[in-house]
Order: sequence, then C-alpha cells, then structure tokens
Amino acid sequence: MTRTGTAALIVAAGQGVRSGGTLPKQFATLAGKPMIAHSFAALAGHPGIDRVVVAIGQGQEAALGEALGDVEHVTGGTTRRLSVLAGLEALARGNPERVLIHDAARPFLNAAVIDRLLAALDTNEGAVPALPVADTLARNDSALGDTALGEVVPRDGLHRIQTPQAFRFNAVLAAHRGWAGEEPTDDAQMVRKAGGSVALVEGDMMLEKITYPADFAAAEARHAGGMRVRSATGFDVHRLVEGEQLWLGGVLIPHDKGLSGHSDADVALHAITDALLGTIAEGDIGTHFPPTDPQWRGADSAQFLEHAASLVTTRGGIIDFIDLTLICEAPKIGPHRAAMRDRIAALLRLAPGQISVKATTTERLGFAGRGEGIAAQAIATIRIQGEQ
Ligand code: MG
Repeated sequence: MTRTGTAALIVAAGQGVRSGGTLPKQFATLAGKPMIAHSFAALAGHPGIDRVVVAIGQGQEAALGEALGDVEHVTGGTTRRLSVLAGLEALARGNPERVLIHDAARPFLNAAVIDRLLAALDTNEGAVPALPVADTLARNDSALGDTALGEVVPRDGLHRIQTPQAFRFNAVLAAHRGWAGEEPTDDAQMVRKAGGSVALVEGDMMLEKITYPADFAAAEARHAGGMRVRSATGFDVHRLVEGEQLWLGGVLIPHDKGLSGHSDADVALHAITDALLGTIAEGDIGTHFPPTDPQWRGADSAQFLEHAASLVTTRGGIIDFIDLTLICEAPKIGPHRAAMRDRIAALLRLAPGQISVKATTTERLGFAGRGEGIAAQAIATIRIQGEQ
C-alpha cells in the first residue's frame, strides 16, 4: 500500500505530578499554557506535518480536553514503549510515510529541528536531534564508593539524544511490533536494532527535558530569557458594493452594502492576518493566498487568519495582543464590537481581553467618508525566540 504524508505522535502518558500540583506534569502550566500545548502547536502548525495523535495515560482524557480541546488521542500502555506502540497502531490506519515521535516533556520545539529531521529521512530510516556533551564525564570509583571520583570517561563521540525522533513509518512500526528485548531507552535504538540507519542531526538547547520540579522554573526562565517582543502592522481596503454580504472581523453584519473582493473581503481579518505575517517577516496575505488562485474565491477569511497564527506558533511565537481599527462612516461598529472581539479571539485561541476593536470615521472625507469602501489597520504584538 502506498504511504504518504507525515504524522506526529506526542507521548504524554506519564503520571508524574509537578510538586505542589495535582495534574500530571505534561498538563501543568508552563510559560502561559499547558506544557503539552507547546509541542502540540509546533507539530500541528508545521507545514510538513499532516496529523498529530497524542498518547495519554489511563484517566487523562479530561486533562487532555482541558489542555488542547478535542484532539485525536489514544490511551497508552504501562510503559513508554507500549504507549508509542498504541499511537503507531492508531496512525497505521492512515498509512503515513513518516512519523515524528515526541515526548511532551520537551515542550519548546522549533520548526528548524523538525525540518532537519525530515530532511535526514531522505537517506535514513530514522533521525534524532543530538547535542554535544560539554561537561567532563567521570565514573565514581567503584572501589571507594559513590562519592569518590574515579576515571574520566572520554566524551569524544558522545551525544545527548533528544526528541522528536523521526522515522520512516514502516521501519519504526515493524521495530515496535517485533520487539522482544529488554525495555529500550528510545525508539531510535529499536530501529537500529532492527537494522535501520539512524542519523544524528543538530538538536536544540530549548528541547531540554523537563524531569524534576525545579526544571519548570529553569525552563520558564530559559524560554522567557530568549523571547523578544515584536510588533507589526497590517492595512487593507475593500470596496463597498450593493449585493454583497458584509463580513467584518469574522462577523456577518446586516447592512445595505457589503465588501467586494476575491475572498469574503473581510478587511479586518485581512489587516490582522498581514500584521501577524509581518511579525515573522513572512510576506503578506497575497503571498500565501494569491488572488489569482480560484480556490480562494469567496473564501472565509478566517482560514487566512488561522494560517498566519499557525505560522507564528510554529516558530515558537506567542501572540500577546491585537489592536484593530476600522475606518468607515457606516455601519456603526459599536453594536458589533463584542462579537468581533469574541470571534477574533476564538480564531487566535486568545482571550477576548487580548483583542482590541476600535472604529473611527474620516469626517466624511475621502473614499471611506463617502461610503465607497472600508479600511482597516491592525497591529499585532507577539513574543518569539530572539534568534529566529
Ligand atoms: Mg483584502
């Protein structure tokens, strides 16, 4: 059977609880959202990944729903290996060609690592992110006890192996189905033992595993320390004509005219989309959704906005605030302001308090003043890792 596409499996079945909390640590809050939500956003938002499945532990359905909403999931087994196997069996029904297997305890995953892993699968059955070992490594002196220094272990050729680990799906599924040895340390070793080649690609310090309660504070600090604020603007105009519906801010507004354009012509969502694309220097709405492409005729502009937001989150960005100004003589925006804020917030998975909707007229001057069109301008403010 032909296999196509790339799937991702997030292993989130651990029962370990952050000290002081009651939720398993993968659902505990880290840098403003549940830990698992960071890696889920990075994987689900990556353009090369088609499907994401989460393997959770027994009884964790409610915690998952609270963290991510209604997402595809399986109930894992009593070991990490069995949880991965359950996830792979669920993915097998979709015949993916490649799979990334990731631990939820490594939340800060950026798109560059995913790109390197997928590229390495062109010539290998598997690929893992790896970092060099910087510290001196030594054994304790077995004759003198645990607290006595013994021989140094040469660190040449040693690597710290991270996740996600990427595989050709057939290779890792066969390795898991046929596994009969001791509990393996990771999926890559299983593929190796089955005869597959596994490449080392450059890992990322931000992917450090969160194991102990103290790791939360360190990860928060590392994450926050690397974040930089960026703001960018967007601007759009569409013509007001008779016989069109008026969509503004994702809300259908009763009016005697509507906006004309290739899509639904929602100037507000277009301006916000351009502002978000601006924060990551990703061109503009026309770059991603060319007006010459017939598939966007009459399109719901919500999808443009969601795409721009997913590009931001894929890069590890956090959207902090959107400020929108609508420029028109009519209709009156006030009665629709709350609905627009709620709709934009829902599309961006933000709180309504993070969305500002303002309106002004131009004192009957110019095209907006004459009611020939509506203009919108927006500014988006995000935080993103500084080097990206
Ligand atoms: Mg437009």
